[in-house]
This record gives sequence, C-alpha cells and structure tokens, in this order.
Amino acid sequence: MKPNRIHNFNPGPAALPLEVLEQIQEELLDFAGSGMSIMEISHRSKWFDQVINDAVARAKRLLGLDDRFHVLFCQGGASMQFCMVPMNFLNAGRKADYVNTGTWSTKAIKEAEIQGKNIRVAASSEDRNFAYIPRQIEFDPEATYVHITSNNTIKGTQWAEFPDTGGVPLVADMSSDIFSRPIDVEKFGLIYAGAQKNMGPAGVCMVIVRQDLLDLAGDDLPTMLKYSTYVQKNSMFNTPPCFAIYTVQLVLKWLEETIGGLEKMAAINRRKAELLYGFMDSGDFYRPTADKDSRSLMNVTFRLPSEELEQKFVAQALENGLGGLKGHRSVGGCRASIYNAISPEAVEALIDFMETFAKKHS
Ligand SMILES: *Cc1c(COP(=O)(O)O)cnc(C)c1O
Repeated sequence: MKPNRIHNFNPGPAALPLEVLEQIQEELLDFAGSGMSIMEISHRSKWFDQVINDAVARAKRLLGLDDRFHVLFCQGGASMQFCMVPMNFLNAGRKADYVNTGTWSTKAIKEAEIQGKNIRVAASSEDRNFAYIPRQIEFDPEATYVHITSNNTIKGTQWAEFPDTGGVPLVADMSSDIFSRPIDVEKFGLIYAGAQKNMGPAGVCMVIVRQDLLDLAGDDLPTMLKYSTYVQKNSMFNTPPCFAIYTVQLVLKWLEETIGGLEKMAAINRRKAELLYGFMDSGDFYRPTADKDSRSLMNVTFRLPSEELEQKFVAQALENGLGGLKGHRSVGGCRASIYNAISPEAVEALIDFMETFAKKHS
C-alpha cells in the first residue's frame, strides 16, 4: 500500500526528501551487506566509518570548505552551541559582538551572559518585533567573533547578504538555512546547525570550525565541551548519534547527486519563495510579517485578517493535505517552512489552497 504522505510545511523536525526516506527503509534491516541495521552497528566499525567520513566529505564539497575547516557532529542541538561558542572562544579578556534578530539570537546572547563573558549586542531589530535584519552595523574591530543567526526560523527573516565585519570572523547559527544556498566561507570562523530543520533528523548538530580558532579554548574546559576533542576524535570521543549522522549523509548525497549542488538548490529555493510571496503580495488577504528586504526564503511567516481565520486556515489546510502551517506559539499567525526538501509542486499546492480559502473568506 502506498503511504499517504502530506505536503509537510513543519518548521522542525521537518520534511526529508522522499528519496532519502525510501533508501533508509530499503536498507533498514541490512545495511551495506552487514546483516545488521545501521542502528545496531558499532560506531567503530568500518561501515559507520564510511558513513561519517562520507558525510564530512560531502559537506566540505557542497560548501567549498578547504582544509582549514573541520566538520564536526555534536549533540545537544544548536542550543548547546549557544554555550559552547563563548566557552571555547572568549577566554583571557576576549570579547564578541552579537546581532539580535529574534528568539534564537536572544537565547545565544543569554547563554554567553550566563557565563559572564564579555559580549556586546552590536545591533538588534527588537524595536519592531524582529521584522527586519539590521544594516550598517558598526562592529568592534577587536572582537574575537561576530555572532549572527543567518535565518530566523520563528520571525521569518534571513540575512540575504552577510554583514561586513571588517575581517572579524562570523559565527553563524545556520540551523534553518544551512545548505540552502552557497556561502562565502572566507567570512566564517564557525557555523553550527541543528540537523532537524534542513539537513536530517533531530539529535545531531553540525559544527564547522576553522582550525586557528581551536587554540582559543582554555585547558580547563570539560572534554565534551571542547571543539578540539571532536576534531581529534573525528566526532567519536563517545558514541555519536549514528542514525542521525547516517540520515544527514543521505541528505547530503541527495543534495549533491539528485539536486546537483547548492547553486541549483538556491535557484529552486528562490523560485519557491518568489511564488509564495508573489502570490501573497498580489492581494491583501495574506500579510507577510517580515520587511520585504529581510524576508526568509525558508520560513514564510504571514497573518490573515483575524486570528479566527488563521485557526480555520491551519485546520482546513490540514484537511487538504497541507500540514505544519501554524506559526510559532510565541508569535502566532501562520508559517510555511519551505526548506530544501519541499518541492515547488508542494508550494504550488499550498498556493492553490490559499487562493480558494481567501476567495471563500474575503
Ligand atoms: C531550531 C533552532 C534552534 C534550536 O535548535 P535545537 O537543535 O533544538 O537546540 C536554534 N537556532 C535556530 C535558528 C533554530 O531554528
């Protein structure tokens, strides 16, 4: 029987490419001729070695990372990185700038402050409920890093271009837009992303770190909270989340071999976002919440004329096979997350439904 799958606009955990799910299903009982499931194999086996090394190699190729960069797999989600970044990089009187663009940046700032680290909020868009990305920011040239959230999953904004920091390395939380577009790696010292938005299942966080920053960590750090441990042990100081890493590997393979790389992925993502925003801009029933020049291509946040209509919209959409459209509980409204795995056809189906719904309720 063919499974009855819906168009899934969940913000995270979120849709995975069908091809990937089918491959997992196909090799679930016997992975690569081992006679075991990938979940039942030692992380020290040749089978898992191949999986993790292939995942790292694909991530490096996709993003164009050279040998200065390490690709690591950590646990504790992106939220653990909020504390690990300042813990590793801000010792001996060092300081950092943060840009506050929403819920997740606010949390990153808080975790640095809890540790008493010397950080400064260099810019914030809180004055207008985070509906925009701040421009023309003056950064401290002596900062060790500048922290940004590249895509704001809840508020629906995204850095279209990364800020000029005058050479200070960017540390970016890319949880909800990693691998959605090519990036200029020269600007970055560290990138982290929880897998469950745009890259895989929950349970693993990818960290990309530049070699020279590893030396900033003090000797007093616990082993598991030090990036160099993960570098030295190929992310296997302890048992890694094997199944999650395996799924990430398959998603990266899909990106390289089926989609054809990040230029192509970015073009598809642009088209999907243009379709959806274009449709909403053509009428006044649906109101996108982010400023036009700050709109996210990944999380499209919008309001309807009333909260009552929003509830009806989300419920009826689901009845029509379109799921996950409720906005985050902290902001309300609606949100369509159109990550890499969401096809243009799914976005077209959403627009068809939105059109019908608006006609009925205008
Ligand atoms: C979801 C999300 C997080 C939190 O991720 P966890 O893996 O649950 O810790 C952090 N930052 C951004 C941008 C997110 O979208």
